[in-house]
Amino acid sequence: MLRLLGISEPDLERQLLRRSVTELSADRHACADCGRTPLVGERYHRYARGKVVCELCRPRHADAPQTTDVVRHSERGHAVRLRVRPAA
Ligand SMILES: [Zn+2]
Repeated sequence: MLRLLGISEPDLERQLLRRSVTELSADRHACADCGRTPLVGERYHRYARGKVVCELCRPRHADAPQTTDVVRHSERGHAVRLRVRPAA
């Protein structure tokens, strides 16, 4: 099948890997100062114009951030929850 499309198996593997890495990095916050992605449980600070700064770079900024949040795990909100069934 791959031969019919003109794609070798290693090329297909590289293309799939590139696509998955790009999708993984699309939703992450990166520090505007150092470029590091804050770890799960670490606080990050949001400044004007959506600028995100990690906890390590925060002391470099004299002004107070607009918001401070904690980095959540990617599975947050996707866990199975018990639901209360309405009385019939
Ligand atoms: Zn930083």
